[in-house]
Amino acid sequence: MKISNQNYFLFSKISPLGERTAAPVTNPLKLKTLNRDEISFTGIGSVANKAADEVINLSKKTLSDLPQDLSNHRVFVRVDHNVPFEKDGTISDDTRIRATLNTIEELIKRKAKIVLATHIGDPNNIKKGQKEKEISTKVVAERLQELLNQKQGLENIKVIHTPKITGDDVIQQTHNLKPNEILYLENVRFNPAETGKVAVKNADGLYESVKVSPEEIDTYAKDLAKLGDIYVNDAFGAAHRDHVSTSKIAKYIPGAKVAGLLMQKEIDNLGQLLQNPERPFVAIIGGSKVSSKLEVLNTLVDKVDKLVIGGGMAHTFTLAKGGKIGQSLVELDQVDAAKAIIAKAKEKGVELILPVDTLIADKFADDALTKVVEVGHIPDTWQGLDIGPKSIEMVKSALGNAKTILWNGPVGVFEMPSFSKGTNSIAEAIADVTKNNKAKSILGGGDTLSAIAKSGIPEDSFSHISTGGGASLEMIEKNGKLPGILKLDNK
Ligand code: AMP
Repeated sequence: MKISNQNYFLFSKISPLGERTAAPVTNPLKLKTLNRDEISFTGIGSVANKAADEVINLSKKTLSDLPQDLSNHRVFVRVDHNVPFEKDGTISDDTRIRATLNTIEELIKRKAKIVLATHIGDPNNIKKGQKEKEISTKVVAERLQELLNQKQGLENIKVIHTPKITGDDVIQQTHNLKPNEILYLENVRFNPAETGKVAVKNADGLYESVKVSPEEIDTYAKDLAKLGDIYVNDAFGAAHRDHVSTSKIAKYIPGAKVAGLLMQKEIDNLGQLLQNPERPFVAIIGGSKVSSKLEVLNTLVDKVDKLVIGGGMAHTFTLAKGGKIGQSLVELDQVDAAKAIIAKAKEKGVELILPVDTLIADKFADDALTKVVEVGHIPDTWQGLDIGPKSIEMVKSALGNAKTILWNGPVGVFEMPSFSKGTNSIAEAIADVTKNNKAKSILGGGDTLSAIAKSGIPEDSFSHISTGGGASLEMIEKNGKLPGILKLDNK
């Protein structure tokens, strides 16, 4: 299978000890070429009639189920320290590292020998020109060191970074750890078995994504598992990946497999929303594409009382209803899927709230000419970039008596001040309802979080802000059935 130009890969070969070399993988014969459906995203085609699955048992063991004294226990902790970087290689936002400090601190207090593992980026998918050292865990290990040392009582903690991932000398290092030392492994994705995919150059000089053999994946899982007696998964942001360090390793860890404190918080909050949400339950889904949120829309129709759809994706719904959308963002191949969601909401008695007016612009720019028009009446050369004032009021009134709110995705191009009013107003309304109705509000998705940060509304105005964008969506879509959660011990 040939892949498109956008998917050319740079990659490196990984030795059995996880050391990187510059040579390409030259033995693709062991590897099976991926089919299109194996690499495609969810959401292609209509899923609106799929039956809803049962919610899985989300009562998982946590740190409190481990012995109080963990001295001489090697605890393999999978974190999600996949932070964004500036062009100069410095960390631009260390929220994900901070979010795991509670778990690390708790394990330090309990004298565990801590082995930390994370992925950063995707070595299989490095954009042309990116250097491997930019996705090494060395920089995050250093930042973790700084953050720990700023905490009272943790001034003496030493984070030791190893440029390897597996191997006898790493195993030895884990056994030799002193109570004030943490071992930080190199990027677990430097071994292609982590994700099970590797980029291989074909005869045309193009890179194709091919599968790593099941045997190689299993060997990597066994090798990683040799580094811990107990497994703690605190990487909610990667819990939707059936990768070696997030899921497959669990089979070979001899001791307990438990959720870290961050993972536990996410499971508790999103789990409650799936299992027994207080009603009325209102979901607001925005963002750019129906295709990336189709499955979540489909699941939500089975769960919510009201479903608000905003953002760029609302235009596909407008088109499905026969309206004119001008130059607005649209996915023509999702019009049928939008129709199916509309029909399913009707069948289930769910109030589907689509914008009634739109703030349109004569170009995609903050200084564009703007005006408000009724939805479905956008002139040919204009585009809808935010919801209009009547729609804002409609969403506010839909939220009026809500007791549970889920929000994922901005309802306009909030990055430009001219088109941020809809998103900011919704953020304010959710904050108000959280306070006044004692409602539970759960926010997720990277862009929703940046929108909150931009709006200046304090984060504690909401009940829970999920740290996992894709993971929080999949948690809802799949009724909790995420590989990283499934493999944890039940209580
Ligand atoms: P997503 O990653 O799918 O949650 O989409 C987030 C992006 O959707 C943000 O960058 C917004 O600027 C964009 N977005 C929201 N509303 C619109 C719109 N009406 N037209 C184009 N893009 C939009």
